[in-house]
Amino acid sequence: MILTFVEQAAGRPDRSSLEALTFARRLAAAQGVPLGAVLFGPAAEVAAAVLGAYGVVEAHLVEPAGLDAYAPAVWGRSVAQLVGASPPTVVLAAGTDRGQEVLAYAAAMLDAPMAANCIDVRPGEPFEVTRQRWGGSLLEKARLDGPVRLLTVAEHVTQPEEAAVPTTVSISRFTPTLSEADLRVRVIGRVAPEPGKVSLADARVVVGGGRGVGGAEAFSELEELAGLLHGAVGVSRVVTSAGWRPHSQQVGQTGTRIAPDIYIACGISGAIQHIVGCKAAKAILVINTDREAPIMSRAAYAVIGDLHTVVPAVSAEIRRRQAL
Ligand SMILES: Cc1cc2nc3c(=O)[nH]c(=O)nc-3n(C[C@H](O)[C@H](O)[C@H](O)COP(=O)(O)OP(=O)(O)OC[C@H]3O[C@@H](n4cnc5c(N)ncnc54)[C@H](O)[C@@H]3O)c2cc1C
Repeated sequence: MILTFVEQAAGRPDRSSLEALTFARRLAAAQGVPLGAVLFGPAAEVAAAVLGAYGVVEAHLVEPAGLDAYAPAVWGRSVAQLVGASPPTVVLAAGTDRGQEVLAYAAAMLDAPMAANCIDVRPGEPFEVTRQRWGGSLLEKARLDGPVRLLTVAEHVTQPEEAAVPTTVSISRFTPTLSEADLRVRVIGRVAPEPGKVSLADARVVVGGGRGVGGAEAFSELEELAGLLHGAVGVSRVVTSAGWRPHSQQVGQTGTRIAPDIYIACGISGAIQHIVGCKAAKAILVINTDREAPIMSRAAYAVIGDLHTVVPAVSAEIRRRQAL
């Protein structure tokens, strides 16, 4: 069995988890073992029911007594106890914040080897993985020794793909045995994004702004364009460090990794730490006054010009066409 930790919200598996499940299914086929899943939280049963499309035959719904919210040690302990009850060959998760955190806890509790942000696995013996380091600017090969290996899958490297033949999912419930120590870290509040706004990680269009935007107020131009394209605004670290926009909008190594159909990068130079966050975009449109800016080498399209002229002009043209 390969056991995949699947993240879900309101009964819908997250896209990153579907990527991880696709990766896991290929690995399960190579090892000749079935594919299982473990899910937490309200509506987990609804999410589990759709996993047959991805080849899952067994889903474990974890129900920690009296705890609905995320608590990393509790979730890690639950995965570790599931593994102990019926050891899989591999435990896998998406390379999200939660995926990394839960598997790191589980690996420590199991005293098992773990590799993060894998992009490839050689499933025989020795068991070798290729994984991204430094946000993908370096690839590293690693060997994992032990009866159970844990790994997370780098986000946006594998496209989610349904199985050729869907499976029937058998669902079981699991209640972990917890100690006080497992409850030392728990979520006590959550700030929801503004209603109607597209999340940066899932947006199909992202309008990015960097130092070239020049100040907090001028982001209204980018907001307008993002709104017209049903997209989200993303920013460089200079922008969050200056306090012009919140860190939740930062794209890059220390921000969000995005994978939109198009990334419109305005006044951003293209430092490597920024590029690792946006390189999964299908196309990058650069708007920059400097034709030598490093981001030009990544551009499918470029407009050499002042973003304060170009962006409002693009928005005006979209509005004009929408009015026709
Ligand atoms: C450990 C570490 C982690 C980091 N993590 C991240 C990260 O996650 N994300 C991130 O973004 N950065 C990150 N950085 C910072 C990164 O190295 C760069 O400093 C940053 O990305 C640069 O931001 P910028 O492109 O907005 O600014 P700049 O590099 O100053 O570029 C500004 C660009 O705007 C253009 N411009 C200026 N005026 C206009 C105008 N009117 N119209 C059009 N174009 C104009 C300029 O030609 C220039 O190309 C990290 C750095 C370190 C050391």
